[in-house]
Amino acid sequence: MRLKGKVSIITGSASGIGKATAEKFVKEGAIVAVCDLNTEAVNAVVDELKALGGEAYGYKVDVTNKGQIAEMVADLKNRCGRIDVLVNNAGIVQDAQLIKMSEDQFDKVIDINLKGVYNCARAVVDTMVEQGGGVILNASSVVGVYGNFGQTNYAAAKFGVIGFVKTWAKELGKKGIRANAVCPGFVATPILKAMPEKVLQAMEDKVPMRRMADPAEIANVYAFLASDEASYINGAAIEVTGGLTL
Ligand code: NAD
Repeated sequence: MRLKGKVSIITGSASGIGKATAEKFVKEGAIVAVCDLNTEAVNAVVDELKALGGEAYGYKVDVTNKGQIAEMVADLKNRCGRIDVLVNNAGIVQDAQLIKMSEDQFDKVIDINLKGVYNCARAVVDTMVEQGGGVILNASSVVGVYGNFGQTNYAAAKFGVIGFVKTWAKELGKKGIRANAVCPGFVATPILKAMPEKVLQAMEDKVPMRRMADPAEIANVYAFLASDEASYINGAAIEVTGGLTL
């Protein structure tokens, strides 16, 4: 119960890493706000978390919509009185090489993967300052450290997330708020569904451990970083890759 009573918002938590993180947080005693684009999917995860014996609330929130974010934060504060942890997990891919990338593809990924992170952090930071502490965790990627073929938009956003974390760590550390990023390699989630089987196999072959991560293996890292056991980890971008980048 390392997160006992910690009120936690996890964006994009109806699927993949976000969903696994919501499950892990509830098992560690956190109160979890599940938020994602689709009400039915959100409600299904909330039901699952309640079946695990957890306390969870569901919100239909698009991280590009400041009004929806503000409503969620107000409702959660009203119910629980505080917000201890924000996990900025929501993200998409729209891959194309620079030579073929449309402005729309570029803007969409930046809006969700970068500005969405800013929107949510901006919406909770006053509360965290007032209560004298909090943790802001953010989904970056190995692509946010090394770049990747076909991912101009995604790489820019994920590098940017690490820029946020290093800046927020400096600005907010004295207020008891820690900010960190998690940089996964390949994780077996629906975000990879557009990739052909051959490409997925080639990706696995590049990993020294010869497999993708299970979403739960990333969720474990978020849970550790959210907990008081990580009390001196601030401004870090932690690679969780099975050795992919060695
Ligand atoms: P996923 O597609 O399974 O889940 C992403 C969730 O985000 C979905 O439920 C989706 O509906 C939600 N979402 C998308 N746009 C949203 C918006 N505008 N507002 C709110 N929610 C929105 O993907 P995943 O693999 O679990 O990815 C989670 C995060 O981890 C992403 O930020 C991704 O970039 C990052 N990541 C994933 C991998 C990987 O290999 N799977 C690797 C590195 C980083």
